[in-house]
Amino acid sequence: MLTSTQRQLLRVISGSGPLSRTDLALQMGLSKAAMSGLARDLIDLGVLHETETVYGQGRPSVLLDLRPECAFFVGVSLLEDPAPMVLSDLNGNIIARQTMPFSRDPVAIANLIKECLPKLLDGRPDIAEKLSGIGIALSGFVDEKQANCVQSTLLGWQDVPLAKIVSEKTGIETFIENDAKAIAVSEKLFGTAREMQNFSVVSLGDGIGCAHFVDGKLYRGNHGGAGEIAHCTIELGGLPCRCGKRGCLDTIASMKAIKEMSRAEGLSCTSISELEEVAAGGTASAIRILHKSGAALGLAIAHLIQMNDPGMILITHVEGSFDGLFGTVMQQSIEANVLPRYAGQTPIRTRLVDTDIWSRGAASIAAHNFLIGPNLN
Ligand SMILES: [Zn+2]
Repeated sequence: MLTSTQRQLLRVISGSGPLSRTDLALQMGLSKAAMSGLARDLIDLGVLHETETVYGQGRPSVLLDLRPECAFFVGVSLLEDPAPMVLSDLNGNIIARQTMPFSRDPVAIANLIKECLPKLLDGRPDIAEKLSGIGIALSGFVDEKQANCVQSTLLGWQDVPLAKIVSEKTGIETFIENDAKAIAVSEKLFGTAREMQNFSVVSLGDGIGCAHFVDGKLYRGNHGGAGEIAHCTIELGGLPCRCGKRGCLDTIASMKAIKEMSRAEGLSCTSISELEEVAAGGTASAIRILHKSGAALGLAIAHLIQMNDPGMILITHVEGSFDGLFGTVMQQSIEANVLPRYAGQTPIRTRLVDTDIWSRGAASIAAHNFLIGPNLN
């Protein structure tokens, strides 16, 4: 176990990249002597290492960075069948992959994880020794301790203490998190948002997920449901949604909704790219669907910008294309629905992601807790 000061140092490096002892002492308000001792202990523990030497004014300084192989994490995604499972290092690099059968039974899930662990570690006792946590991503609400699933429609759960069940079975500390929040943490720890304090992630898939970092912290809200843009009403009196309301964003702009609209129009498109192709050929119904869904997603993002003023919105997607009509209409809808002074001020990035995104996100939850301690910065 690391001390709180040791964790604080890891948090500083994790947020800013490699730093010299002098800069670290400055940022942490410690004396140079205290910093030397702290750094020496962490180097001895194998958590930090010295990287490059920087020559500037005064004495050259050696930069300290986290050693990616100082700790390893398992990430499990309960969003697909079979359920993907990855082994990652502290930098989010994936070392190994496995899948396990999908289950909705918490005890069965714990048993399956325990059975799959040896395959994932594949005779690597060096890694097994440094296994520092298990993270699990799921669709639903999770409490702020990242221990209980408060509610999940997909899994049919109410108040399931999954983290405890898995950690008791495996003997490894376990944390769970909502899928979109896991992606946001992964972006903050390993990705493009490392140095950003305020940003939002919108994940476009069969459903639409969303999560926010505010002032460098994952923002959960009062009940863990902050940022559920999928169930914002976009079309008053629109189609019924699985949540019980009508006209939610999910009923218009999720991949599931887009596929359903396409089927209803007699088109066989199963991705935005396919719809774009058909639309480019002049098929009016395909153009209509792309317009409707793109405009709806843009409107929801415009509301998000208006309310939170994030430094960036990252849209992750697995099967879409943002170069065509859909992306253009979305962008126009954002610009048309934010206050003129906000227009064009918020970078909207889109990223085609691979299917590892959920399990890597899950592993990042465990890494985040290792580095920073739960629910701190
Ligand atoms: Zn809804």
